[in-house]
Formats: sequence, structure tokens, C-alpha cells
Amino acid sequence: MVLRAIILSSLVCTVGLSQTLPTTNESNQSGMAVYSGNDLLLNYRPESTLVTPVHKIEKPKYPAIDIHCHWVGQLDPKMLLANMEELGISHAVNLSGGFGKDLLAMLDRFTAASNGRLIIFANLDFKPIDDAEFGTYNAQILEAARAKGCAGLKLFKSLGLTIRDKAGKIVPVDDPRFNPVWQTCARLKMPVLIHSADPKSFFTPTDARNERWMQLKRHPGWSFFGGDFPKWDEVVAQRNRMIKANPETTFIIAHMAEGSNDYALLGKWLDEMPNMNIDISGRENEIGRQPLASRRFFIKYADRILFGTDRYPGRPDQPRNRIYYRMLETEDEYFDYYDHPYPPTGEWKIYGLNLPDDVLEKIYRGNAARLLGLDLKGPN
Ligand SMILES: [Zn+2]
Repeated sequence: MVLRAIILSSLVCTVGLSQTLPTTNESNQSGMAVYSGNDLLLNYRPESTLVTPVHKIEKPKYPAIDIHCHWVGQLDPKMLLANMEELGISHAVNLSGGFGKDLLAMLDRFTAASNGRLIIFANLDFKPIDDAEFGTYNAQILEAARAKGCAGLKLFKSLGLTIRDKAGKIVPVDDPRFNPVWQTCARLKMPVLIHSADPKSFFTPTDARNERWMQLKRHPGWSFFGGDFPKWDEVVAQRNRMIKANPETTFIIAHMAEGSNDYALLGKWLDEMPNMNIDISGRENEIGRQPLASRRFFIKYADRILFGTDRYPGRPDQPRNRIYYRMLETEDEYFDYYDHPYPPTGEWKIYGLNLPDDVLEKIYRGNAARLLGLDLKGPN
């Protein structure tokens, strides 16, 4: 029976579910295939009978800086700004700025048109990874971009997991080839936003004991279990060694540094590394499923946590912002952390943290403004 359930589920998951916008029909097929005795409960999507207060938060309590967005160069800056207005976002940071000519074009198109409210981070050019000049070459790119208003550097999770040198070896996050880059970012006061590893469940077998089983079924390529992938602990250890070795560089670690399933560990990292900050993007599911611990953690580390969505303002398919506002500001209980027709990560619901105003102000904007050197009282 277990085997049949697995097979069915994988069939269900191949029907268009890897696409971001499932149609109603497809979403009908997205429920769990669950067995109770011999009865197959296909498309099991329980609807809660719990009646609790619902607060709709249209705009955040303080105009927010979204530190974690991705958009392409073709997007219309006016569209972004109009949506930011609607969502209560004062500044949005595009972490997909690219490098070289693309980056300069991105800066030209968005920075001036927005009076600095659309902020661009650069990416690295990994092609020359085997050249001795790799670090200094990228440092020069950053220097040129900084002169044009580029605000920071973003590294994707590919570093430490999928970028290989010509010997075929996965390049570790703390590879010394990157040292000139970290040092240049420190000198130019450009924060480095880096995504390393992924949720712990992506590094364990994709099976019925995995709490993100459904998600990994939909996206088998997101599993880093097996092969020559390093273990989760190893990638995180590389990242932490790199942060400690560069105390002058400011780091913002994406997605709660992949530690939001273990606040004791995450707190230890923050205590050990004063140059480490974290963003909340994409981890509303983790944060909101443990509201009491999260509230304590967010209050204790209020100076180190930044608001981010991993979307762009106005992205039509997944308007994530208001779920985040509700989670951070209200004490609503047991609500969906997603706006898909199915739970995209794990089969659970979330709760509000009801954070105090001073903490909200820091998380929504104060911390990001400090790290980006923004003057919020200025003409912006
Ligand atoms: Zn991202």
C-alpha cells in the first residue's frame, strides 16, 4: 500500500505541478494521496472548521524595505513603483543585477527612474573560476558597478552546491579564490547577501519521513541528497568559516540562514558572528509554525533580521507580502502561509507573531536602511 501511494503521488506531481501557476484543474490534482486502511483518499485537502479572528493587513506598519527581490531587466520601473505604493514598500532590492554590461544597464534603467527606491545588487561572473585572476577580476566589476550606484553583491546557492571548477570539484563557499571579492565589498561598504545550502530536508532522502516530501516530489531537482553533494552541515560550516574569516564584510544570509528550524543553533551563529544578519524571505512557513519561539527570537535579535519576500512588487502569481505582514503583526492563528492552491513546502499552517512596534520598525526598514546606508529622512 505504501508503495502504491508513492507511485500515485509521483504521478500526481508530474501533472503540471512544477509550473508556478497551476490551473484549477491541476490544483485539484495537487492534494495528498493518503491511505486510510485500504481506502485511497485522493486529493485530500482538509478544510479547517476553526473560527478565529482574521486580520487583513494591506500595508506594513512601517514602510518596508524588501531586501530580497528578483526581477528581470525588461520589467517596467513604473509598474514596480506603483505596486510598491500599494504594498507599502518604500524600497525594493533586486538581487538579480547580473554583472558587466547587463548590470550597468540594470542600474541605468532602475536606479535613476526611481530616485534610488529600486536598488540593484550585482552577481559574480563565475566563468573564469579557474583563473588566478578570478577574484580580482570580479572585484573590478564590483568597483565599476559601485561607482554607478550598485548597492551590494548577491551570491546564489549555486556556490557550495553546483558550481564546479575544471577538475569537476564543487567549489566550497569558503574557497580562498573569493577573498578579493569579500575584501572589496568591505572596502566599498557593499553588503553581501548570500544564499547557502537550503532547508535541511533537501539534504535528506526524499521519502515519506521527509517533511517536505510533497515539495521535493514537485521539484526533484531541489534535492541535494546523495551524489557528491556536500551534507547540509558541511555547506553551512563552509559559509560560517567564510563569514568569520571576513569580519569587516557585512553579510545578510538569505532565508533565515537556513536555521529557522533550530533557533538555538541560529542564535549561536548570530552571537558568534556580529557581521552576520539574516533575511526572512521564503521562510514564513518555518517562522510561523512556531510563533512563541519566533516571537522571542525576533525580539532578541531584532537588530539582525531583515524583511524580504523573494518576489518582486506586483508579481501577480504569488502576492506574498500580505501573508508576511499578517504573520509579523497579528496574533491570528492557524492560517495558510501560502497563496498557492496547495502548500508549497510543508503540510502545515502558521500563526502570527504579534511583534512589538519597535521590533517591526527595525525588521521592516531600520536594519536594511542601516546596512544599505540609506537616509530614510532624506528626499527619498
Ligand atoms: Zn532569492
